[in-house]
Amino acid sequence: MMGPSHALSGAAAWLAGSLAAEHFWHFHQTPVQLAVGTAMCAGGALLPDLDLSGRVVTNQGGATVAHTFGVVSLFVAEVIEKISLGIYDITRTRHDPRRRNGHRTFTHTLPFNLGVGFGFFELCWHFGKPAVLAVLFVTFAMTLRGLFEKWAHRAGWVIVTLVAAGATYGAYRLLPGDRGYPVLGIALGVGGIVHLLGDMLTSHGCPVLWPIPTGRRMWRCIGVPDPIAVTVGGKVEVFVLRTLFFLIALGAGTGLFARPLLRRYNIEV
Ligand SMILES: [Zn+2]
Repeated sequence: MMGPSHALSGAAAWLAGSLAAEHFWHFHQTPVQLAVGTAMCAGGALLPDLDLSGRVVTNQGGATVAHTFGVVSLFVAEVIEKISLGIYDITRTRHDPRRRNGHRTFTHTLPFNLGVGFGFFELCWHFGKPAVLAVLFVTFAMTLRGLFEKWAHRAGWVIVTLVAAGATYGAYRLLPGDRGYPVLGIALGVGGIVHLLGDMLTSHGCPVLWPIPTGRRMWRCIGVPDPIAVTVGGKVEVFVLRTLFFLIALGAGTGLFARPLLRRYNIEV
């Protein structure tokens, strides 16, 4: 799937999950915590495509997320693509096809995305403020790219960076300052897994099970059968799926935000 669909699916998943957590386990989050978690999950849902590099010199091609910080992130994507291809080549069996590009390999596996979640959980837990600020800043910038793609493209990376910096400052001022926020790691990890599910709806699928061999292959791509697979960037993705994700996000968001809002105006529900 394309960047905006991934970002929207991440946002929808976090809001729906938060609504379920509130309903079943009475796990309350403040509106700011909800907004930050949603942004982190939307940004996390773009992260696996950091293996889709473009042309660094001409600043063209590549995934939405690879353009987050202009040529700098395009270069990072180039490096991640090459590392992913290296991991593919080292671990592939005779039955896995030869590849010349690392897209949809290592960053599209369950171990990678669980590792991202766990890694950032630990980072935000142990290193507190500096880590939280860095994670917030980078992820806000990615989320802006994903959710407001056209605006971000027109505005350019300098404006996107400035807005992300502003959002980071605001979030940090508004969030209670006595904690390390490991939940940011959970949101990023969940976003990554939502990304895999999204790509599994397309005909190519994802090698989610790596490094567990299936039928003598290490990198078997798992996805829905071809006749019902969604075409990347096609009408079903752009109109049907994005509308569905938007409605889920809207419904869950209304459920979550309505109650505190009504309570503020002394309306009991
Ligand atoms: Zn992908």
